[in-house]
Amino acid sequence: MKKPFVTKQQLDEITARHPTPFHLYDETGIRANARRVNAAFAWNGGFKEYFAVKATPTPRLLNILREEGCGADCSSLTELMMAERCGFRGSEIMFTSNNTLAEEYRLAHRLGAVINLDDLTHVDFLRQSIGCVPETVFCRYNPGGVFTLGAGKDGVQVMDSPGEAKYGMTRPQIAQALRQLKDMGAKTFGIHAFLASNTISNDYYPELAAILFRLAAELKQETGCHIRYINLSGGIGVPYRPEEEAVDIARIGQEVQRRYEEILVPAGMGDVQLCSELGRFMMAPYGCLVTRVLHFKHIYKEYAGVDACAADLMRPAVYGAYHHITASGKEDAPCTCRYDVTGSLCENCDKFAVDRELPELQRGDLLIIHDTGAHGHSMGYNYNGKLRSAELLLRADGTVELMRRAETPEDYFATLVW
Ligand SMILES: *Cc1c(COP(=O)(O)O)cnc(C)c1O
Repeated sequence: MKKPFVTKQQLDEITARHPTPFHLYDETGIRANARRVNAAFAWNGGFKEYFAVKATPTPRLLNILREEGCGADCSSLTELMMAERCGFRGSEIMFTSNNTLAEEYRLAHRLGAVINLDDLTHVDFLRQSIGCVPETVFCRYNPGGVFTLGAGKDGVQVMDSPGEAKYGMTRPQIAQALRQLKDMGAKTFGIHAFLASNTISNDYYPELAAILFRLAAELKQETGCHIRYINLSGGIGVPYRPEEEAVDIARIGQEVQRRYEEILVPAGMGDVQLCSELGRFMMAPYGCLVTRVLHFKHIYKEYAGVDACAADLMRPAVYGAYHHITASGKEDAPCTCRYDVTGSLCENCDKFAVDRELPELQRGDLLIIHDTGAHGHSMGYNYNGKLRSAELLLRADGTVELMRRAETPEDYFATLVW
């Protein structure tokens, strides 16, 4: 059973002041989870989680994470600008980009952000862009091929295709990049890899860590570079489906520690500081999209039309992603009906759910679409002239705060030249 973090009574009060649809976030859940992540890696003195800003670029939420000790992982000019305006400083900002613009490197360097290079050619490009190489630089590794984790102890499989991914450097390239950077004056180095997305196996991070730890030890031998940092990136997932189980972040932390002690410590690399760039894991379960049932339509199938659409949450339309739906106030009602829950875009993929078993719905019912806290509002767009929704924060004290207002038609027209 997936339980919403907000009750029908609370939602009735909130919707009396804020029209649907909107994304609502749970401060208590965000803080508690951030503390669990930091506790899981507290054994590593310098550990820092750099929240992947692209997942939820909302300053109020970035600041909550900053208060919990997190940094910001940015990958574009405006994400860097947002991190700066939020008050992230220097090495609290990681810049992990690809196909990067010179002005992005310039801003990252001016802010003192940690720069993570995606490609060998960017060694020269970075130096041309900023006029030097920074003292500390990270390089991103791509092992190629297919990454699989067989059904391990927890029975969850992981499979992804780094060989099809545009990111990172090959094994010979990363060694060459480190050598070149060292020759240009860089002093300390970090390495990074992102091998699989939305993994709900406890084995993913430990396996990735082992790959990066071995690579770090080899690269130290080969290049003489002082590798001080290892960035385990993002990719820890959340259980979108009610039958899936959440990962155990404390156990993941312990298993990474075991690999650290087995591989890095004997290699004389016990000073390595770990970092992560989690997005989904930090935020997805602590946000939901609240939308109201507008219409029913009965043709060859049964449709429940709501006032949100794929422009508010594109994951179901684009990836066929599952998002659980709760009819608020009908949590305990039997699921006796089957609906396609649709938005209003003139695109047939605009369905939050297909053949979903739900309690019998009425017009005006509030639906809670779960786990939209990451890659939800942030992936929104204006197709069909749809206006992007508001973002609200349910604070720890039960009050509700507007973090981002809904767009107005004036916003939509603002960039046009008539
Ligand atoms: C998207 C992204 C992340 C976050 O990924 P999640 O799946 O949300 O954890 C981290 N690092 C980089 C470089 C990314 O592009």
